[in-house]
Amino acid sequence: MMDEVTENLNEVRTGINSACARTGRSPETVCLVAVSKTHGPERIRPALLAGQRFFGENRVQEAKAKWPALKAEFPDIRLHLIGPLQSNKAKEAVALFDVIESLDRASLAEALSKEMARQNRHPVCLVQVNSGAEPQKAGVLPEAADGFIENCKTLWRLPVAGLMCIPPVDEDPAPHFKLLGQIARRNKLSLLSMGMSHDYETAIAQGATHVRVGTAIFGKR
Ligand SMILES: *Cc1c(COP(=O)(O)O)cnc(C)c1O
Repeated sequence: MMDEVTENLNEVRTGINSACARTGRSPETVCLVAVSKTHGPERIRPALLAGQRFFGENRVQEAKAKWPALKAEFPDIRLHLIGPLQSNKAKEAVALFDVIESLDRASLAEALSKEMARQNRHPVCLVQVNSGAEPQKAGVLPEAADGFIENCKTLWRLPVAGLMCIPPVDEDPAPHFKLLGQIARRNKLSLLSMGMSHDYETAIAQGATHVRVGTAIFGKR
């Protein structure tokens, strides 16, 4: 009997492969980030045993409590921070995460830049874009993206390699994914983190290099 998480993970992998096949992409060009927020090691472990190594967490404190022990056991785990980051947590975020997907403002860029220099550790950064310009949502506005990306690279010397977005829940995500791709192309950024449990296939069709899937793997939170 295969456990539920392993079964779900296999289904998502199949979904990714089919979406790639439909759009003429090679499955190796899409990285599955398993979003394990709120789930404990007993649900994470089956995913690790099935070979999953990229994980997403949205809170620094929670990740700090959960991951060091698992990392000791599986040293090739790669952690992505996908939630809003307070500048006063930059130090812990730089120490723990391999990719920071929620870079969205100057004060945070400055804090991350200082910490990276201090720790000599340089997690890859993705700029979060508020593609739907939703007032309650984090991310730079699309029209401010080019300037912010430029500042991140030249002023703060951050290793910015791509973009992340979370489209509005009640809209067709495809135009948002397209917009993210356009901003990435004109800024010569290669990584696109977009697509979650309900829309990762659409995101792959629009060029996602990273999909962040939680519920479809670990179940309801
Ligand atoms: C929780 C979360 C996800 C995963 O969402 P699911 O719908 O559970 O797949 C992806 N991205 C971000 C930024 C999240 O906070």
